[in-house]
Amino acid sequence: MTVKGPTRDAHGGRPRDGVRLVNPPCESGSTVLFPDYASFRARHRPWHYGRGGTPTHRAFEQSLCALEDAAFASLTGSGLGACALAILSVVRQGGHVLVPDSVYSPTRNVCNQYLADMGVETTFYAPTISPAELKSMVRPETQLVFAESPGSLTFEVPDLPGIIAAAGDVPVAVDNTYSAGVFLKPLVMGAAMSIQAITKYIGGHSDLLMGAVCTNAQYADRVERMARILGSSVSAQDVSLAHRGLRTLHRRLTTHQQNGLALAQWLSERAEVVNVLHPAFDGCLGHHFWQRDATGTTGLFSVIVDWEDEGRTAAFIDALTLFGIGYSWGGFESLCLPAWPKAVRSAGKWTERRQLLRFHAGLEDIDDLTADLDRAFSAAAATS
Ligand SMILES: *Cc1c(COP(=O)(O)O)cnc(C)c1O
Repeated sequence: MTVKGPTRDAHGGRPRDGVRLVNPPCESGSTVLFPDYASFRARHRPWHYGRGGTPTHRAFEQSLCALEDAAFASLTGSGLGACALAILSVVRQGGHVLVPDSVYSPTRNVCNQYLADMGVETTFYAPTISPAELKSMVRPETQLVFAESPGSLTFEVPDLPGIIAAAGDVPVAVDNTYSAGVFLKPLVMGAAMSIQAITKYIGGHSDLLMGAVCTNAQYADRVERMARILGSSVSAQDVSLAHRGLRTLHRRLTTHQQNGLALAQWLSERAEVVNVLHPAFDGCLGHHFWQRDATGTTGLFSVIVDWEDEGRTAAFIDALTLFGIGYSWGGFESLCLPAWPKAVRSAGKWTERRQLLRFHAGLEDIDDLTADLDRAFSAAAATS
């Protein structure tokens, strides 16, 4: 029986026989005991050491594979760990990688602070590059095209199917954290790897850190091998929490989407807001690609406000009572984060001097959220 996403993810990864709990049991441990010498020598166990994960991990990986249409999933201790694992799985000394300028900035550090030292060159490409331009940047030694849709902080949407086609035989790895694997399906489009920070919407409650690299059949061995070499391992307790988050993912995203759209619309009507960077709004570069390739939006977006003065930003942030200031997103609560993308761009032209504010629309009541923002705008205006 084929069922729709919310049904599949509510039921996935469950034991099918015996006395069953609704969720896979949390099996946690390092040493796995073998019944005797012969089975030890034959490694005759479904799992033989805790580092490689337990049935708790296998069940969650199975659910992630169903979500992302993947052949294989590897769990990592953070979303950044998953980005690094995906990259390290395919690069070799003397190689070259293409990375979008709007990439999550710690991923940029993997390239600039580590790949450079191991003799792998990185070229950062403009987030809205055309497939033809990208194709002209692919060299014989290019080993990976990295993509992120939409880009971090500034939400540029790339022509993902175009980029995948332009990459040819070079594998494409897509950071798919924004869509939580629900609204965008990179592996179906032909990407080799889809990466997620489970920390965000799948975890959904701001109480865990985890990442995953989901792959097609061709890249499964390479990612599995590198994860083993690095000793990548996550706790069964965190996996149980993440699996629990997955059960309600679709229903939470529906509200994040509604609240995100309503907040972005409310902000777009404010005199202080000069642009809304949200994949559903036409002020967002490449938004027509999102309309073509994705099936929904989530609660994350940015706006540009009409001031540069940091004192005004401070007054705005400090007047907020429901929106927290802090990194990450994807939990049930709303957040507001000021950001300065110029500092982390090299290929693109981020010339905007006015303040960028990134919002995460949580699951609160929308009227309470807009009232909070209204008060913050009044506090910001009082500084002038
Ligand atoms: C948050 C985030 C990450 C990193 O996830 P962590 O679990 O915080 O390490 C990677 N990519 C994107 C796009 C993110 O938003």
